[in-house]
Amino acid sequence: KNVRVMDIDFTSTTMDLFLSNAVYPRLAQSQKCFIVTANPEIVIATRHNARFKETVQSADYVLPDGIGIINAAKMMGTPIDARLCGVDVMHHMLGHAAEKGYSVYFIGAKEDSNRKAVENALKKYPGLIVAGRQHGYADLYDEAFIRTVVEAKPDIVLVALGMMKQEGWIRDHINRFDKGVFMGVGGSLDALSG
Ligand code: UDP
Repeated sequence: KNVRVMDIDFTSTTMDLFLSNAVYPRLAQSQKCFIVTANPEIVIATRHNARFKETVQSADYVLPDGIGIINAAKMMGTPIDARLCGVDVMHHMLGHAAEKGYSVYFIGAKEDSNRKAVENALKKYPGLIVAGRQHGYADLYDEAFIRTVVEAKPDIVLVALGMMKQEGWIRDHINRFDKGVFMGVGGSLDALSG
């Protein structure tokens, strides 16, 4: 179910239902999926940037990440079922991936932060398959890098480059992949690294 707030169709469901009805089946069936977690800052950015707006609108799921979105929907008389935080979705996906044997590619954040985030993910979710990792201050449009990621055939691609940049990278490269759940995770790799 979707609820429209400022031209963006937000996914309105609970975390459990989002995972069990959307994310996990996509992973199990090797279907591609683009998830945007949108706070009010992102919605406002779509007002000023038509290309970014199109990018967000092209996502399979736009999650209401932020109380501002929840409040706006409520005020419009079309309440959203629950706030779905990107960092929570990320942790659920990592746990599920470790359990089921899905691989994860970690892109973005500073080198130190990226490395520690991957280390902590492995500690927290034993058995997690790391398809690869790349810090976010290299040329992420470099063809050799793209090919490396594509050839790793990751089931999940987490992209932490800050809003717009991360969604732009996903938009520009998702077509190169046959499968994968792609999600922009903002500062979540920094959080995981700490
Ligand atoms: N980042 C990056 N490359 C860049 C710009 C940002 O890897 O060119 C990383 C930054 O190190 C941080 C993450 O993007 O780990 C998210 O940044 P921020 O928290 O500012 O973004 P937000 O979550 O607010 O969109």
